[in-house]
Amino acid sequence: MRLRNIPGAQEEIAQNKFCIHDAQQYKNNWNQFWGNSNPLHIEVGMGKGRFLMDLARLHPDINYIGIEKYSSVLLRGLQKMEIDPLDNVRFIRMDAEYICDYFGENDVDRIYLNFSDPWPKDRHARRRLTSHQFLERYDTFLAKNGRIEFKTDNDDLFQFSLDEANESKIWHIDAFTWDLHHDLVLSKDNVMTEYEKKFSDLGNSIHKMIISR
Ligand code: SAM
Repeated sequence: MRLRNIPGAQEEIAQNKFCIHDAQQYKNNWNQFWGNSNPLHIEVGMGKGRFLMDLARLHPDINYIGIEKYSSVLLRGLQKMEIDPLDNVRFIRMDAEYICDYFGENDVDRIYLNFSDPWPKDRHARRRLTSHQFLERYDTFLAKNGRIEFKTDNDDLFQFSLDEANESKIWHIDAFTWDLHHDLVLSKDNVMTEYEKKFSDLGNSIHKMIISR
């Protein structure tokens, strides 16, 4: 994601009605925030939010939270919500490293990781959103029957993610493909992300892994 500093982005987000500003107070109590007991699905590193908003239109009975680290990127999602508001989508601006401050045991039913930053240097491996450090964090708040769905076009990141899940004592790989768009089973009901569209238009194969416990 090309990051451009947008003047005033932080201030705009601080007042935006589609952002959850006091999110930590809902840890273990997200039903109170939504006013219903619908399942909660989150996307970590949502970028401009197209994927989450398309899903939310298809599934009005599921609550969605998009997590994004950078105000300038999140602002794009907020602008889309102003044009087409969705009651079942909200956003949190945060670094996912602190995600356990926001979600407690069984709070989340599904985690989407789409085109996560690859962090190619070995010394940055722990920052990858599919590193064992992150998988351990997700384990603390994903519901028993919950799952993680991960998509990328990056071969090295995908292999790393398969290895991390395989080596983990917690996670089990339910399904994976190196070519999602030609996989008859996994491509069913696929909702494209912004990056997925961009990279598949360039001819890149899209990879997908689904893991659970
Ligand atoms: N998921 C979107 C898609 O598939 O179109 C965006 C993909 S973009 C390559 C990755 C996004 O993840 C960026 O917007 C980046 O700012 C965000 N991101 C990376 N690390 C993050 C972290 N630790 N916490 C929250 N967001 C993060």
